[in-house]
Amino acid sequence: MPELPEVETIRRRLAPLVEGRTLRTLEVLDSKWCSPIAPSELSAALEGRVVERLSRRGKYLICEAEDEVYLLMHLRMTGTVLYDAPPGTLYVRVRLELDDGHVLSFCDPRRFGTGELALGRDALQAFLDERLGVEPLGPDFTTEHLYLQTRKRRMPIKALLLDQRRVAGVGNIYANEALFRARIHPLRRAGALKRGQVAALRDAVVASLQAGLGAGGASIDDFRHPDGVKGAFQDEFLVHSREGAPCTVCGTPVRKFVAAGRGTYACEACQTRPRAQRSP
Ligand SMILES: [Zn+2]
Repeated sequence: MPELPEVETIRRRLAPLVEGRTLRTLEVLDSKWCSPIAPSELSAALEGRVVERLSRRGKYLICEAEDEVYLLMHLRMTGTVLYDAPPGTLYVRVRLELDDGHVLSFCDPRRFGTGELALGRDALQAFLDERLGVEPLGPDFTTEHLYLQTRKRRMPIKALLLDQRRVAGVGNIYANEALFRARIHPLRRAGALKRGQVAALRDAVVASLQAGLGAGGASIDDFRHPDGVKGAFQDEFLVHSREGAPCTVCGTPVRKFVAAGRGTYACEACQTRPRAQRSP
């Protein structure tokens, strides 16, 4: 569930608290988190090293430790990283203690979150290149780039947006929001979009992610900031999770249906359904 704005919110809040600190201990309480790497191997690689930088790529939060040791954390469905979690916090799967006594806790009720290790800058780059396309808030996410990604693709445009190897960091919420802003139906074939529509979509992806970042991410269920506070973007959704509510542009009730295997929300007056997909 956490997408680019949620992970980036965590990164921005944690970076000043962890950068420059030494990882005193890394305790993996649930070995599934880093499988197939043994928890002891992960601890040995990271303990005693200075965290030089906390970075992000797509939905990965990357702890860059000295000597090019990288811990890549993925929150998946329900993961969150708390700074000095209150006593009694449930579902703690990993504890990282810093040399100043503060503790990061990776909490994750559904246990889909992961921790992976990359040794060396080249290994990190290879790991990321294999899994992720361009960063949508970076300079490479141009209309031309997105247009080329869509050509000859029969998949629905929403499926393309969700494919991390094409656009890194966009998930269900921001795909729904961006398609609504661009007035493009989620089931429209990617390859059938005109250049002008792709330009509108590129801008809408950026605008949706920026809005999410500005609100500190969306907390629909488990996502929290490192201090336990919820994000506020769920109060600003234009279309996501607004089934039956009036479209903010034209007043038509928002519809919910499945696209790309995910719960999808759209105003079918503003976002015209492609003909082949029209319901009888
Ligand atoms: Zn509408």
